[in-house]
Amino acid sequence: MTRRLWQGWRVRTGATYIAALRDGRAVYLDGERVKDVTSHAAFAEPIRRIAAIYDRAHAAEADPVLTFADPATGTRHSTMWLVPRSAEDLGTRRRVHRFWAEPSYGLMGRTPDHVACVLTAFAAWRQLFDRGGVRFGDSVVRFYERARDEDLYLAYAIVPPQVDRSQPAHRHPEPFLHPGVVRETDGGIVVRGAQAIATSATMADWLFLSYITPLVPGDEDYAISLVVPMNAEGLRLYPRRPYATTATSVFDYPLSSRFDEVDTTVVFNDVVVPWEQVFVYRDVDRVNAQFHETPSHTLANFQSLVRFGVKLEFMAGLALRLAEVQTAEGDPNVQATLGGELAALCAAFDALVRAAERFPLISGGVARPHPQYVYAGMALQRRLIVDMLRTLRELAGGAFQAVPSSEAAFTSEETRANTERYYRSAAAPARERVKLVKLVWDFVGTEFGGRQLQYEMFYSAAQPVVNRRMFHAYDWQAAKAMVSRCLGEY
Ligand SMILES: Cc1cc2nc3c(=O)[nH]c(=O)nc-3n(C[C@H](O)[C@H](O)[C@H](O)COP(=O)(O)OP(=O)(O)OC[C@H]3O[C@@H](n4cnc5c(N)ncnc54)[C@H](O)[C@@H]3O)c2cc1C
Repeated sequence: MTRRLWQGWRVRTGATYIAALRDGRAVYLDGERVKDVTSHAAFAEPIRRIAAIYDRAHAAEADPVLTFADPATGTRHSTMWLVPRSAEDLGTRRRVHRFWAEPSYGLMGRTPDHVACVLTAFAAWRQLFDRGGVRFGDSVVRFYERARDEDLYLAYAIVPPQVDRSQPAHRHPEPFLHPGVVRETDGGIVVRGAQAIATSATMADWLFLSYITPLVPGDEDYAISLVVPMNAEGLRLYPRRPYATTATSVFDYPLSSRFDEVDTTVVFNDVVVPWEQVFVYRDVDRVNAQFHETPSHTLANFQSLVRFGVKLEFMAGLALRLAEVQTAEGDPNVQATLGGELAALCAAFDALVRAAERFPLISGGVARPHPQYVYAGMALQRRLIVDMLRTLRELAGGAFQAVPSSEAAFTSEETRANTERYYRSAAAPARERVKLVKLVWDFVGTEFGGRQLQYEMFYSAAQPVVNRRMFHAYDWQAAKAMVSRCLGEY
């Protein structure tokens, strides 16, 4: 019975996930090699959070929203690997993305369901990779099936470091500052160079490496798309400062201490990549086309928008709770602010996500979330988050600064009485009020909060890049026709 169940379900457990991370990966923090990410203070808690979600997913394997049955084998897999064929399938994907986003309140962007979108879209559109040779399409599909069957967690690094944005990779001061192929071997290729940011790399199983920034003729050495396990020989992971290590307690830094997904620079020191892990090889056109000709970009960013919607709801909730604790929620001006500057934006954003899902573009048997709504969401995201953060700050006034330096103020015999008397509000005892204020500050003002804003501004691309995508995604014909009709009327 146990054996049959194991064969029937392919959603991994948290323990399996954690065990897989003890693979000898080369993570360097403050100049020293990290022996085991799963027990290191910088990574252990975020890893534990991801493991807990895997456990919840595993426990809900029969749930038709969280898993789907492979028509060929009957085996159930996580819905993050479902190739969407219809609006209903996209709705199912939206729910699985929410399932992954809600535990971190939308603060972890690169949960396993993000890069799963990319691989799923690649496999659903293998014809693009076949054009470079059928073996490449085979590699894409085989790796997708493996990732789906083992429920793997992938991070990706697809934007190169800012060496010289005015020059293509092949015109940099030295070759292979950006990742490229230094030579071929019988079994594969040897890759050298660095890619700027792979969020979550330290806690993922595999890395997808390629370029989303356009390559040009002459960049052939750099025109690659491939996957490597995180413990590949020669692959080094250099995280930025992880916020969990500087968070003094969960009470004082409730988000920094638990939800930092740690952005990481990845360096390839002549990493040997077997051919079966290579999807595109020395092919500028294919690299440039892979995210947009396939449904990859819209599917992955659909996940980003669903996740962002969760975060907006969380923000709105924080603002309302802040107003309640300050006994301001009955004030008509505060109600107008909460309604017009928070609730309206949350509702409008939710409508965009649902429109992207309900009106897909279906071609080649695959449903893409409608690009017009995906890119509208992405183009508006920066404004929404900045507006909402400002509103939260407006509501808080000086609250963030008028708090005890740490939770210890509540336990010290010397300070407890003053702390409990003078930090309370009419609606909440001091501990409850301070707990909330510190939570909101970790969202808007700490180093973790600042990184969150930068993430929303740049997780995909600089604003002009996103805006240009929206320009091309919008159906201008109807707008143009209306102007022509109007001009023709008189
Ligand atoms: C928190 C965070 C997490 C991220 N996670 C990931 C990840 O998991 N995987 C991944 O692959 N990437 C990730 N990224 C990287 C992200 O994809 C890039 O930051 C994004 O695409 C923008 O590229 P860039 O940082 O190189 O900025 P640039 O493209 O260099 O843009 C910076 C500024 O310079 C301007 N600019 C750019 N080029 C020129 C030019 N030629 N002339 C004049 N101005 C110019 C832009 O308009 C912009 O204002 C992450 C980024 C952040 C901030």
